[in-house]
Amino acid sequence: MTTARDIAVLGATGSIGTSALDVIARHPDRLRATVLAAGRNVDALLDLCRRHRPRHAVIADRSLYPALRDGLRASGLDTHAHTGEALDDLVAGDACDTVVAAIVGAAGLPSTLAAARAGKRLLLANKESLVLAGELLMREAEAGGATIVPVDSEHNAIFQCLPDAAAHAGLQRLILTASGGPFRGRDRASLQAVTVEQAVAHPRWSMGPKISVDSATLMNKGLEVIEAHHLFRVPGERIDVLVHPQSLVHSLVEFVDGSTLAQLGLPDMRTALAVGFGWPERIRSGVSGLDLLAQGGRLDFEPPDLQAFPCLRLAFEALAGGGTGPALLNAANETAVSAFLQRRTGFLNIPALIEDTMTALPAMPADTLDTLADADARARRHVEALLARAA
Ligand code: NAD
Ligand code: MG
Repeated sequence: MTTARDIAVLGATGSIGTSALDVIARHPDRLRATVLAAGRNVDALLDLCRRHRPRHAVIADRSLYPALRDGLRASGLDTHAHTGEALDDLVAGDACDTVVAAIVGAAGLPSTLAAARAGKRLLLANKESLVLAGELLMREAEAGGATIVPVDSEHNAIFQCLPDAAAHAGLQRLILTASGGPFRGRDRASLQAVTVEQAVAHPRWSMGPKISVDSATLMNKGLEVIEAHHLFRVPGERIDVLVHPQSLVHSLVEFVDGSTLAQLGLPDMRTALAVGFGWPERIRSGVSGLDLLAQGGRLDFEPPDLQAFPCLRLAFEALAGGGTGPALLNAANETAVSAFLQRRTGFLNIPALIEDTMTALPAMPADTLDTLADADARARRHVEALLARAA
């Protein structure tokens, strides 16, 4: 029987948050959503509160706090309303023992760190926090006694293939699979005029807008290489990327004895989330088993095209350079993707803006949160200045 869990879902109204709540609702006897947090979508948050009756609800945007408080009261709920300032304390306190970190972007770092320090079971979807401050986060998780279960599908696959330290000793190589995104097979010139709508239309996964654009540029895979480096303590030279358009093999682990293990399943994040809630037990997720014949009966693999998708190369370079490099990469990417989503810049400018930032702001040693936050802020300002100059 799985341990009963009191769960904080951070980013509750998003794609991962909604999937997490779907799994939670399947296990009313042992999984309970006690804290729900969102950025700005107060109506969606109120809907979720009516359905899941959490003890606490958090809206990051303070101007929306009255709407949350009054909406909860009007619905007859005794859920406490909070602004974002309360989030880290709620995450660290006794309102929850398990935290789904699914806020998008570097904004998720403080709450992820709070969960790590407080020794929670941490279902980590917010990959940007690992890219920005991976060493710090892993150190704090270890010191705090937190259990991190990655819920990025690739890392969850590796976690499942590599559950204990003894196996880890014989680990040779990690192979992250990538769907290739909506523009797989296209050359660089043909990507000049792609639209936001085309970029967010992912062929296999349904996800939030930022990660959908990251998948289209292959930056998502670059962020995942850095994420895997921290989670599994493997250097970048021993992490490979393989494009696998069916998105059924979620990643592979190669051992020194010639064995390669892989985890397969339908592309649905509820599997990874159920692994996170139940581990080491297996619980139902609502995802059906994999019928390989029904899925077309084939698994294809091809190398990534670094000419057409330079973001993956930039991420490997940032990881190799170390220090503040990944923080600069991540912040430049967030700013460039946000500008693309607002139609302020073109698709090919995303890698161009990031590369310019990496050249203009060389990586420095990074041992504190302040150094990393400073690099993050400088990269954002640099990209904004480039965008202003182009406008
Ligand atoms: P999304 O855009 O659908 O949802 C983001 C959520 O974060 C929303 O609930 C939003 O309200 C909330 N949010 C934003 N800023 C906030 C703040 N300051 N405080 C509190 N809440 C805030 O994004 P998503 O696709 O669910 O992705 C979430 C994270 O999970 C990202 O880091 C992404 O890279 C990662 N991830 C997502 C998937 C996926 O399938 N969607 C897969 C792997 C990893
Ligand atoms: Mg992934």
